[in-house]
Amino acid sequence: MNRIDLSEMLYYYELGDENEKETILKEFKKMLWGSKCKFKKYKRKYNYTVDKDLIKDRKLIDIFTPHESIEYMVAKGKYKSKLNSIDYIRVKVNNLYGYYCDRDTYYKSEYYKCITVPKNEYIKLVRKIIAEESINIVDIKDKIERSLDEAEMYRKQSTSNKLNITWNDHKNIINDFIEKIFENYKPLEEVEDDSWEIDSVIIDGWNEDNYIISYFSKSLSGYYKNYVRKAAGISKYKEYIYCEACGKLTEKTSNRTKYCHICAKEKKLEKYIRYNKKREITTNRKTHIR
Ligand SMILES: [Zn+2]
Repeated sequence: MNRIDLSEMLYYYELGDENEKETILKEFKKMLWGSKCKFKKYKRKYNYTVDKDLIKDRKLIDIFTPHESIEYMVAKGKYKSKLNSIDYIRVKVNNLYGYYCDRDTYYKSEYYKCITVPKNEYIKLVRKIIAEESINIVDIKDKIERSLDEAEMYRKQSTSNKLNITWNDHKNIINDFIEKIFENYKPLEEVEDDSWEIDSVIIDGWNEDNYIISYFSKSLSGYYKNYVRKAAGISKYKEYIYCEACGKLTEKTSNRTKYCHICAKEKKLEKYIRYNKKREITTNRKTHIR
């Protein structure tokens, strides 16, 4: 079966008795999890090779050589073959897993910007050498070190708020949502009057399938977001910040809140140790003077 008529499924679901409803849900889930659009990850690299004959300066060679290949992961997002309606919903399900659960992909965009810096700086350097322009080695070194530190911070921020669950757990969560989504569905005709301007919609090449896909997508996003907030104990009545040390979403209990509970404890301990060392040094000095 190539063309999947979601609107028919939803129609029969609404009219069906418990048994028929269950059969339809089962069929839908079978197609969803059997979709050809699997969640896949790829390794990508920012590559360059330090041209030692061109650069010559030992310091510059040492700055650039360690970053000749920076690897990062991406989730598959493009498909060559034509997608049916269920495939589109499956892609959404995959994206949700990547965004909320997978620790290798879907980082903050700043992360990906930061890891391109060594390669960009290398290209700039080569251009400058060829143009015989002056080169500030300290600046280059600082810039690369700073961006890689920042990248690490963004990586932590991106991963520390992800759910610690497997693909199978994710599947179970989605399966729970599917029934709700079928239950809450309203056909296009019923919502047309108040929220959609049907004429402009038809001109834009809109059809019922698009409406259903978008309904599934929005519902899945909404339910998943709520699930994640609940799992993290996040309330919509509280204010949150990202912990400055580990990036975890943390309740802002005062204007001075900077760290999560764990990091705040560590910072306090560090401060205490530093304070004691200082005291030791001063007392030792005093005894020495005496
Ligand atoms: Zn923290």
